[in-house]
Amino acid sequence: MRLEGKRAFITAAGQGIGRAIADAYLREGAIVTATDLNAGLLKGLDGATCFALDVTDKAALQSAVVEAAPDILVNCAGVVHAGSIADATDAEFDVAMNLNMRSQFHAMQAALPGMVDRGGGSIINIASVASTVLAAPNRYLYATSKAAVIASTKAVAIDYIRQGIRANAICPGTVDSPSLHERLKATGDYDAAKEAFIARQPMGRIGLPEEIAHLAVYLGSDESSFTTGQAHVIDGGWANG
Ligand code: NAD
Repeated sequence: MRLEGKRAFITAAGQGIGRAIADAYLREGAIVTATDLNAGLLKGLDGATCFALDVTDKAALQSAVVEAAPDILVNCAGVVHAGSIADATDAEFDVAMNLNMRSQFHAMQAALPGMVDRGGGSIINIASVASTVLAAPNRYLYATSKAAVIASTKAVAIDYIRQGIRANAICPGTVDSPSLHERLKATGDYDAAKEAFIARQPMGRIGLPEEIAHLAVYLGSDESSFTTGQAHVIDGGWANG
């Protein structure tokens, strides 16, 4: 198994990409701590230690990370705000930055000292292609926060490279998840919005959470031992268009 004996801590493991990563990590032999704002969503992650965790609660997040002493930290929690800069409010700016970015900063700060003591670790931060990779319309706050995720990942990677710690970002394109369906519904025309999302995918389809989880297994495992500080794009060819 590719993650045999490695301790992994995953945020937002209840559904979508985080859930697929938790499932894949369990299959690959990792010792998984799976957390989510909504603990009910963690049902079925047999073999994992599961509990409710709001990643915007700094004290709770940091003590949970220190307790789990992870070899692999997967920061997956995030929220999408729709709209251009004209639509964005200060309150939404704070939510986007606190949930998408600051939570990763806090989790990494808590995980790194233990990783240094143990001689290594792998940090995986979920970003998005909507960031520095490409410009998606009406994703001002989201893209700004996810660009910060990429910069934060690269900064940690360079500062800890000689301590055996790797940090990588995953930049998914459009992936089928419960919140994607909510975003499609919120447009007022689910079918048209879905068609438009698919149309921007050169592959002609939306991705699956499991396809992102394969990359997260690779980045968490020693197979990726020469890879750090990168924004790994996995998007059905969207950014290649
Ligand atoms: P999702 O949005 O459907 O689910 C998000 C999960 O996060 C839920 O289980 C929710 O309970 C949890 N969550 C929300 N607020 C939280 C908080 N404060 N603390 C802890 N958990 C919280 O899942 P998804 O669409 O797979 O998104 C997961 C990550 O992947 C996000 O960071 C998202 O930005 C990123 N992403 C998603 C897509 C996509 O198309 N789905 C594309 C690129 C990046």
